[in-house]
Amino acid sequence: SQDSRLVSARASAMGPRLSLLVIRDVTEQERLDQMRTDFVANTSHELKTPVGAVTLLAEAIESAADDPEQVRAFASRISDEAARLGQLTGRIMSLSRLQSADGLGEFGPVAIDEVIASAVDAHTVQADSAAVELSRGGERGTWVHGDAQVLIEAVGNLLANAILYSPRGSRVGIGVKVDDDVVEIAVTDQGIGISDADRARIFERFYRADDARSRRTGGTGLGLSIVKHATQRHGGEVRVWSRPGRGSTFTMRLPRIDAPQQSPLSKRARK
Ligand code: ADP
Repeated sequence: SQDSRLVSARASAMGPRLSLLVIRDVTEQERLDQMRTDFVANTSHELKTPVGAVTLLAEAIESAADDPEQVRAFASRISDEAARLGQLTGRIMSLSRLQSADGLGEFGPVAIDEVIASAVDAHTVQADSAAVELSRGGERGTWVHGDAQVLIEAVGNLLANAILYSPRGSRVGIGVKVDDDVVEIAVTDQGIGISDADRARIFERFYRADDARSRRTGGTGLGLSIVKHATQRHGGEVRVWSRPGRGSTFTMRLPRIDAPQQSPLSKRARK
């Protein structure tokens, strides 16, 4: 930022118009710096809770060493906290990749059918244990230009939320619609829904509609932020409709491409 200030000082000697341009650039740089600082602060705060819990539980194990039952119980809670840490660090890494200029893999033709199949596969265990039925509908055979892994993660996050915020015995639908040169992937649930006030903020990093409730359900507050950035990196946009108490629909709208002539090698193996 000191460099840009220097440039700005030099530029202002060159004329009023150029200096205005550069000063705006410095402001943008400062905004990005601030965002980065906030992100690091929030991230450290979020990591502190599970790390603290693991430390306490390890101490508890030490002092309960001659009670195998208790040791087992503490050990199982350590593994829960470790899983949470793993999810959190994974999501932090995804988000920082999505926000860096060169963080994505090479783009190529991606079959939406495969993206959905992989995302659904990765969430059948979660759906089964929540007694939520996943159903796939809509168009088949649509393609987009992009990074399959990134799209699978984004669709997966929408599915994970839909299942997480739904009552047992309800249904989560995942459908595809073609609208001219746009492919729309929609995830619909019959869950708790989102208020108007929250709807405006849920795509922010670490934002949770109801902190206490979301914390209990084990969220990270990063899932939708990843969905938004992943979709934007593919030239698309995310939309949400919701009625509190009735359910929500999230859509990812992506630029459509024609099916490639020759089926390219599946990009799924990569990671
Ligand atoms: P989290 O990991 O907490 O779910 P997200 O970024 O994925 O974080 O979502 C942010 C917040 O948006 C959630 O904490 C929840 O309050 C709300 N939310 C997301 N998806 C849904 C949904 N399908 N139904 C109701 N609320 C949702």
